[in-house]
Amino acid sequence: MQKPLIVITGASSGIGEATAKVFAAQGYPLLLLARRIEKLKALNLPNTICAALDVTDRETFVKTIREAEEKFGEADALINNAGVMLLGTVSQQDPAEWQRMMDVNVTGVLNGIHAVLPKMVARQSGTIINISSVAGRKTFPNHVVYCGTKFAVHAISENLREEVASKNVRVITIAPGAVETELLGHTTDTAIKSGYESWKKDMGGVLSAESIAQTILFAYQQPQSVCIREIVLTATKQEP
Ligand code: NDP
Repeated sequence: MQKPLIVITGASSGIGEATAKVFAAQGYPLLLLARRIEKLKALNLPNTICAALDVTDRETFVKTIREAEEKFGEADALINNAGVMLLGTVSQQDPAEWQRMMDVNVTGVLNGIHAVLPKMVARQSGTIINISSVAGRKTFPNHVVYCGTKFAVHAISENLREEVASKNVRVITIAPGAVETELLGHTTDTAIKSGYESWKKDMGGVLSAESIAQTILFAYQQPQSVCIREIVLTATKQEP
């Protein structure tokens, strides 16, 4: 039997890319979304549609998913993974950086939910997996706005789970600690960036994106009647 469509945002690097590979290896048809479409195409995965998308563009988000559904059937899961982390001190940070984090990490997640949820509720099945962070459960220095966005992802996920539980739709939050990806590279404050790199080194390295991808697959592959509400995972040596 043909497996159902899985939609993954931010699949052009890091956790999203690793998740795309893990789901493709299991035979799921995929819709991969990110702005850098050439990186999506370079993955060269079978049964996969790659589309350039900025997750803040709600209209295109919906249209792109509808087009993929014409080929592969309705999306059974959305992995809302696209995100940005621009660490900084609020007193000095360019407000454009706060805005971008709010737009991508919060509005982008809501745009994805909007694009798939009505159909999931109507057919009483489906799974939304939101990638939050340990920074969605506790605070860290220089993370004020990033933590704000990830606390929002946690709150939105849990409250949405309650809203759609009776419709048999699952909402799952995955909250990783530090993972080796491109994420930190976008922070513009070089002192904060090098401090973070030293912290990762001091703990003897961080999680791999592959570990997060396997965790996402595990949560998804439970029966539809089983909802793993949240998984928090970090490198064993990560203290905070
Ligand atoms: P990467 O920077 O490697 O990947 C981020 C992905 O998000 C890229 O594919 C990027 O694609 C995409 N993205 C960014 N902005 C947009 C946008 N406006 N529209 C569409 N896609 C966008 O980082 P990670 O893999 O680490 O991050 C994935 C998720 O995991 C994020 O939500 C992050 O907050 C979370 N996370 C990461 C941790 C870590 O330590 N790495 C820890 C905890 C959580 P493109 O640039 O091509 O658009």
